Amino acid sequence: MKKITIAIDGYSSTGKSTLAKELAKHLGYIFVDTGAMYRAVTLFALDNKFIKQDFFDQKALIENLPNINLEFQFNKDFGFAEMFLNGDNVEKQIRTIQVSSYVSQVATISEVREKLVEQQQEMGKNKGIVMDGRDIGTVVFPNAELKIFMTASAQTRAQRRFDELQSKGDEVTFEEVLKNVQDRDFIDTNRLDSPLKKAEDAIEIDNSNLSRKEQYNIVLEIIQELL
Ligand code: C5P
Repeated sequence: MKKITIAIDGYSSTGKSTLAKELAKHLGYIFVDTGAMYRAVTLFALDNKFIKQDFFDQKALIENLPNINLEFQFNKDFGFAEMFLNGDNVEKQIRTIQVSSYVSQVATISEVREKLVEQQQEMGKNKGIVMDGRDIGTVVFPNAELKIFMTASAQTRAQRRFDELQSKGDEVTFEEVLKNVQDRDFIDTNRLDSPLKKAEDAIEIDNSNLSRKEQYNIVLEIIQELL
């Protein structure tokens, strides 16, 4: 069967990865969560003290980019690939509110984007891939056969992320999570390099009032038509 490239972009906590993961499983495609890559670079910057409370040594991070090795390794038990930073599984550490609060600043750096985009394009060169992020349909795979752009209200998205963090035992307040979602939206849509925006040929889905299943079925129907 013909293989295509599926690009899923959208705002933070719109459930992009969940949808991408389910589609990839159904189609037997590779799934790539590019947010995990930006998060891993952020973790590296934090671990190396390039980022401290009110200080971010961007120059040191840029100089150290060659020392960052990112790899996805498939976990059979969970059914998806986990993020490894320089050989260590960092899947848990990259999802904390601390990483979330710095990742969008890290993602504004062109040198960081250049490195990650190159790796993403390499992963998708044979198609048969579902990739989610902010610039997949606009920059990484501008010729993707299917582009989805996901939105939902900030309140809905913050509630989803808050529930997720709480279920993992993370001690955060709803207000903290809402502020993080709004701050990231602002930085992601206003940065100079590859800002978050809907590609002209993307299909927009507002899932504020859609269940996971409803949304999945809508997209699957579109894919079946394409294939
Ligand atoms: O998708 P996730 O919320 O994990 O992404 C974390 C952050 O990484 C985003 O808020 C954005 O700043 C950045 N990102 C990006 N481009 C991508 C994926 C993520 O700039 N393709």
